[in-house]
Amino acid sequence: MISPSDTPLPATYYIGFCRQCGTGPLGLRTCGDCGNVLVVCDECDSAWVDGEVDQLPATTGVTTLPCPHCQSDVFEEPGHWSTPEELLYCQWLNDSIGRGDVTVHTSLTPPPEDDSVV
Ligand SMILES: [Zn+2]
Ligand SMILES: [Zn+2]
Repeated sequence: MISPSDTPLPATYYIGFCRQCGTGPLGLRTCGDCGNVLVVCDECDSAWVDGEVDQLPATTGVTTLPCPHCQSDVFEEPGHWSTPEELLYCQWLNDSIGRGDVTVHTSLTPPPEDDSVV
């Protein structure tokens, strides 16, 4: 189902499933150039600048996925799946968690209905 073509780190954080393709997990990925934490779909290669994933993606890609902030390919090194430290300092993420809009998961299981915030 998910092919680990770009060898993601084990500690990958997800905030749910993609509303564009319906199947892709939405991962939190850090752009290697500008350092912004983005929401990216593993499946259809869409990127959002924050947790507003009900909106259309800010950028989409096919073999590369341009960062909405700086246009670098976020799947290219040194882009990486966000670390706990990066998530801790990510303003939009903390705001979204605070509002209850976003729940962070570390596995690909569908989000439970309760709020198991990391
Ligand atoms: Zn960037
Ligand atoms: Zn998708």
